[in-house]
Amino acid sequence: MEKMDKTYVLRTYARDYTHFIKGKGSKLFDADGKDFIDFTSGIGVTSLGHGNKHIAKVISKQAKKLLHTSNLFLIAPQAKLAKKISELAGYELGVFFANSGAEANEGAIKLARKYGNKHGKNHIITLKNSFHGRTLATLKATGQDDFHDASFSPFVEGFSFVNDLDALMQKADNKTAAFMIELVQGEGGVNALDKAKVQEVADFCKEKDILLIVDEVQTGVFRTGKFLASQYYGIEPDIITLAKGLGGGVPIGAVLTKHKDIFKAGEHGSTFGGGFLVTQTALKVLERLQKLQKQKCLQQNIKYFDKKLNSLVKRFPHLFEKTKGLGLMRGVKCKEDAKLLVQKAHKKRVLVLKAGLNTMRFLPPLNITKKEIDEGFKRLEKAFS
Ligand SMILES: *Cc1c(COP(=O)(O)O)cnc(C)c1O
Repeated sequence: MEKMDKTYVLRTYARDYTHFIKGKGSKLFDADGKDFIDFTSGIGVTSLGHGNKHIAKVISKQAKKLLHTSNLFLIAPQAKLAKKISELAGYELGVFFANSGAEANEGAIKLARKYGNKHGKNHIITLKNSFHGRTLATLKATGQDDFHDASFSPFVEGFSFVNDLDALMQKADNKTAAFMIELVQGEGGVNALDKAKVQEVADFCKEKDILLIVDEVQTGVFRTGKFLASQYYGIEPDIITLAKGLGGGVPIGAVLTKHKDIFKAGEHGSTFGGGFLVTQTALKVLERLQKLQKQKCLQQNIKYFDKKLNSLVKRFPHLFEKTKGLGLMRGVKCKEDAKLLVQKAHKKRVLVLKAGLNTMRFLPPLNITKKEIDEGFKRLEKAFS
């Protein structure tokens, strides 16, 4: 199978050839029947774990009923999902559905450009160590020079990035249409922004009529404990993008905005976006996650995971410097090569991720059990001893 993959699939990933064939909760099983504790949810995608029976049921039911008609017709679960997202966000938003994070960000960029261009503004400023996707525009929006490889040039114009939130406000001029930020940078190293400073930026944006785009592709959908990280930060951004955790494993992205009248019919669209299967599934995902939050299970998981992560760092002071992040989007700053430590964890059958700034990253399913957390950390202790 490995040979087939290497022959026929383009090698765009530094792929690990562990061959998973099924999953249950926060456990994955390989072809030899060995179990792995999954502290990654893919990359923040399977928030309700693997083999979830509620998700499986809704997918199978919808597949038998209706899969696709196109966006030229009413799609009831799409309308219901948009309403639900707006209600959960707590302020009035219109939603456009895409199929991925990058595509949602493309939609956000188009929206911000159309809004800004009326006043001659179309530049977008982002932050260093950000990650916004792999399309030509979102690559350029990504604030890491490594992603701007000249072999892919020319890139989309009108983007620049700065070191921090203060620099963002300093750099803004009469060409600036929008700021685009992650409240907790995921790929860039699980770096949570300062709350007071974020609020200052949000006020600054209002004052200067600069749109605030918050990329919640990774932080959104209860990952930080609230539906949106923006709620934790106490802001109501002009535009928010969602993707990873929204579909529980099916591909879906979303652009949320309070500027509901910018796009006119025909100015933006997607063949697959917001189809029956994914929107019906996302409705179920939100229902289950909301229940998890109401029953305080999510808060308990966050607290317990935090406790275990902190004792891990204390136990191995020569390997780890400190914990980072928010909710169940966590990181550990490493003193030794994070890539090597991630491999060590994998050998003891725990999946963790590497992120920027030599960070080991944790994105466990939000409904992970105490037993699974215990087992995962027990294995990590063995891995690092
Ligand atoms: C993963 C991610 C993206 C890209 O999402 P894709 O679905 O891979 O296109 C964009 N922004 C952030 C913050 C992400 O974490």
